[in-house]
Amino acid sequence: MRPHATPNYLTGYPAALIEQVHQLIAQEKLAPWLLAKYPQAHAIRTDSSLYDYVHELKNQHLRNAGQLSRVAYDPKLHIIKNALGTHTNISRVQGGKLKAKQEIRIATLFRQMPQEFLHMIVVHELAHIKQRNHDKAFYQLCQHMEPAYSQLEFELRAYLTYLDRAGAALWVTPPA
Ligand SMILES: [Zn+2]
Repeated sequence: MRPHATPNYLTGYPAALIEQVHQLIAQEKLAPWLLAKYPQAHAIRTDSSLYDYVHELKNQHLRNAGQLSRVAYDPKLHIIKNALGTHTNISRVQGGKLKAKQEIRIATLFRQMPQEFLHMIVVHELAHIKQRNHDKAFYQLCQHMEPAYSQLEFELRAYLTYLDRAGAALWVTPPA
């Protein structure tokens, strides 16, 4: 998932909706609204717990779509590559067979988020195993894996817009 070069996380949404988000931020109402809806940060703190989480979801929805070779939080994704997550398909010949391995990286800022937002970005990257582009089939697959996908993506983008302005994360890290 790659946002715009100059972060404008809400590009493509109706102007009235974007205006509403900007107003909620200006009136300091967006943060309490998000915190009321999602009071807690998830506890998936390490790369190995992230791997288990993604692996479980992949088995649930895309059991036959290759093997997950690596799953990790990546602190450079958001800042340098301006991406929230990436999926890489690596094909290797092993024992005379071509094997596809999937590598998924999630921007480290998702460590301090509600589980719903983590679920949304993981679903997004998993859907790329099957669908390369952000087309109709892609979003149908996302919606299939997470029925609230569209709503969550919008709320995540509203939060990222808030984060850009306010600079401080809303969800503090739970105790390890
Ligand atoms: Zn994407």
